[in-house]
Amino acid sequence: MAGTKIVATIGPSSFKTDVLEKMYRYGLSCIRINTAHIEAGYIAKVKETLESLNRKTGMHVGVMVDLKGPELRTGTFPGGHMLVKAGQKLRLSLGGSEGDITLSHPEIAKGLEPKETLLLSDGRVRMRVLSKDSSAIWLESLDAGDLRDRSRVNIPGKFLPLGTLTERDLQFLQEGVAAGVEFFAQSFVQRKEDVMTLQKEVSERGGDQLIVSKIETKSGYVNIKEISRVSDFVMVARGDLGVELPLKEVAMAQKHIIEESHKHGVPAIVATQMLESMVKSSSPTRAEVSDVTNAILDNTDAVMLSEESAVGDYPDLAVRYLNEIAEFVESRSSNYAEPREFLGNHVAYSIARASKIVASEIEASAIVTFSKTGNTPKMISAVRPGIPIISAVPLRGLANKLSLYSGVVPLLIENSSNDLSDFENIMSAVEKKTGLKKGERVVVTSGAPYFLFGGTNDVRVATIGKFMGRGYPSGKNFKGTVTSKLDRSGDIYVTKNLRGARISDLADFTGIIFLEGIGHASEEELSETGIPFIHNTKLLKGLDDGTNVYVDGSTGVITS
Ligand code: PGA
Ligand code: MN
Repeated sequence: MAGTKIVATIGPSSFKTDVLEKMYRYGLSCIRINTAHIEAGYIAKVKETLESLNRKTGMHVGVMVDLKGPELRTGTFPGGHMLVKAGQKLRLSLGGSEGDITLSHPEIAKGLEPKETLLLSDGRVRMRVLSKDSSAIWLESLDAGDLRDRSRVNIPGKFLPLGTLTERDLQFLQEGVAAGVEFFAQSFVQRKEDVMTLQKEVSERGGDQLIVSKIETKSGYVNIKEISRVSDFVMVARGDLGVELPLKEVAMAQKHIIEESHKHGVPAIVATQMLESMVKSSSPTRAEVSDVTNAILDNTDAVMLSEESAVGDYPDLAVRYLNEIAEFVESRSSNYAEPREFLGNHVAYSIARASKIVASEIEASAIVTFSKTGNTPKMISAVRPGIPIISAVPLRGLANKLSLYSGVVPLLIENSSNDLSDFENIMSAVEKKTGLKKGERVVVTSGAPYFLFGGTNDVRVATIGKFMGRGYPSGKNFKGTVTSKLDRSGDIYVTKNLRGARISDLADFTGIIFLEGIGHASEEELSETGIPFIHNTKLLKGLDDGTNVYVDGSTGVITS
């Protein structure tokens, strides 16, 4: 599975168990519910379905409820639409019903000034303010077009005092908290106060959801630094951003948003039109594959599907393409900038960076974290170690949240008999539930006194498997069954010392374990034959014949 995470918007095409199961298999990390298109009760239904799939598959796919915020739209037109010509003059109403065009928030019209531009219907029809008087505003249309009832209106660069959340948003917020979803996405975030308002509404309802700030207005883009500092994630919402900013600027804006957020460790999601053609086609265009590739090279944490998975013909294949592209790109590039400052515990952050360095020097297969809050895995994700970050956590909701962090593989340890403060227990769960094999090295971070109190302060190297003992190594790793007899009834010969055996008797063994030191001369002689061994070995208990062991050639650690 790729380190880059995949969000898919759910809709009629994908809200089917068999399709969702395929999407899981192909690497889904999170489902987005676009509340523009749902009815009361939908959130709970989706959450329930995913919960049962999570239990069935052992995966941890979270749910993101996308709140739409107060949108500026036109009113209705006689006959349901209005044709406008380029150059046509139109009257924008300031409140009453007179005028060619009304706004869903008429107070916005009062603040317009001559020369300002309104973008209607996703930017297809531009209108310039000519003049204003006490009863109306005169606009000139710059384009010809057909405006439908309730067309979206953007006023790029203008801060719109529309408030943050509508009644409808608050209803879905309540439903989301009650259903225990993991994330709320907030549309049209303009400044940090918007994020803080949502955060307050969530915690007042007893929720602990993470907040995804959608950057899709010019104000949001200009204020990205302060917005990202109070957000859990940011989303490069290219659909609306491409209306608010000139289209040619969107790709550069994407880089800037990711870079600004990453400076203090806040992860990013790149959204909209990633595999747009897959709404109708079973494979993406070259340009789309290139776009996904570049988003990953920009160091995005996640990529998102919208129509592709909500109403498209190939929701499962779209997820598969994203995962395949991500796996390939990640295998070819690894040099990403680390956050300059991480907001939070500085000791834990330095441990996160240390774990990356140690892992790379010892060629570890994974980093294992024990975390009660998720803070340490988030920090390690932000430094991009390039290997899986296996995160043992005690809560299902936290596991689902961590699924969205780049590189993180959540490992739920729920059972109360699995004492989370017990290192051995967690390591055996890691071995059982991940693809890691005995003898593979991992870097483990934890907090001592372990994780009950949080506060990561410790990084160490561990070997997968049960620790049996350790000797002083010479030569490569070796593994197999042990025997105390010279008759080759096992792969690894365990003996006190070299006395009583000729070197030629040992030639067929995969490795030797000497319990005593064998002396410098014998060490030299033996290493010339190329047979790996450890000597001066201390065992936890004896090693019975037939036991399967793995011996690490650089640390001398024996595991079983
Ligand atoms: P939306 O947001 O799909 O909810 O509009 C994403 C975007 O604008 O890109
Ligand atoms: Mn949008």
